[in-house]
Amino acid sequence: MSFRKEKTEIMKIAIIDADLIGRKRHRFPNLACEKISGYWKERGAEVELKLDYDDFEIYDQVFISKVFTDTPVPDWLKETDKVHLGGTGFYFDKAPNLPNEIEHHMPDYRLYDAWIESEIDKIHRNFDSQGKKFNERSCRAQFKEYTDYCIGFMTRGCFRKCQFCVNQKYDHVFEHSPLDEFYEDNCKKICLLDDNFLGCPNWKALLNQLIAIGKPFKFKQGLDERLLTDEKCELLFNSNYDGDYTFAFDNIADYDLIHKKLNMIRRHTSSTNIKFYVLVGFESTDVDDIENAFRRLELLMKYQCLPYIMRYQDKNRKPWQESKYRGMYIAMARWGNQPNIFKKMSFRNFCEANQALKRRDAPICTTLQSMLDFEKENPEIAKKYFDLRYDDFSKR
Ligand code: SF4
Repeated sequence: MSFRKEKTEIMKIAIIDADLIGRKRHRFPNLACEKISGYWKERGAEVELKLDYDDFEIYDQVFISKVFTDTPVPDWLKETDKVHLGGTGFYFDKAPNLPNEIEHHMPDYRLYDAWIESEIDKIHRNFDSQGKKFNERSCRAQFKEYTDYCIGFMTRGCFRKCQFCVNQKYDHVFEHSPLDEFYEDNCKKICLLDDNFLGCPNWKALLNQLIAIGKPFKFKQGLDERLLTDEKCELLFNSNYDGDYTFAFDNIADYDLIHKKLNMIRRHTSSTNIKFYVLVGFESTDVDDIENAFRRLELLMKYQCLPYIMRYQDKNRKPWQESKYRGMYIAMARWGNQPNIFKKMSFRNFCEANQALKRRDAPICTTLQSMLDFEKENPEIAKKYFDLRYDDFSKR
């Protein structure tokens, strides 16, 4: 983004979080939008979180940010002197940085307040109209990422350059924002968006700063388990960590290394809140990819860790959707990404349970059919993995 010179009269600024408009269940604030808001409010501007793409003419500047490439936006949108587009959703790995004075500005954590209240009001009215009891507390919980967290990057960059990742700009991890740049005392929790925090040479001092604040914190983008050491485990697993510890097991080639690190993790913690992203459909979308995924899931089960199956997509394509195993990818993700199901059912149990929900005379559902077709074609793989259960490993 680049900005025109500031005017002396009160500027009218519109900020559009495109993911909020374009994705039905999206529930995470756009940090760039919050920083832009903080910057302009400090300069006395009238800032509005805009929820549509109309009437741009009444604003002095319009900032539109998008994180996800598949979030729809109007075709006619383009960068002009007034309209500024930013984020990986528009530019993928070539997204320009925010200007320094905005990038390092305190985010405006109040930007979404009016929208949250109007959403809660809408949900409340909807409950009333259906004669259902409305519970405000549980309703508000879905907005906790907006209301409870200070958000920022203590470090940026990554040296790994995984081909599927948008983080290609840098070849090392470096310190980016000191905590007081985005931390406010009244925040309940801290959410870090760092790309590869443990890869920062100064990780220990930074982690100790976080721990010293005493508030629960989490690394939303996950941590690089390949860099774990006993010292890192000791600090991390004894900290006031918020929710799941998330790592990644993207590549079957890392199997032995991940195995070693899982052993290390289990020497330090018996937490059941350990989760691994499992990337599928990137190297191929054939039988090898499916088998590799199950092999990784088996290892995670053995160490009582949970998966989150990520089906690869880039800005133009979702290769798994073009695969003959499309139904398998969907079934695996539905099974693996619901912890309560994954903990209690094998893949076969899950697929059969889907069918059991249908009427007796209903045709075989696509979930079960996909499993049966795969099994017919690959009986050895099915025999090895389809009946594995997470809870069986907990008894061993
Ligand atoms: S390690 Fe993570 S952040 Fe780094 S390039 Fe790979 S996926 Fe991206």
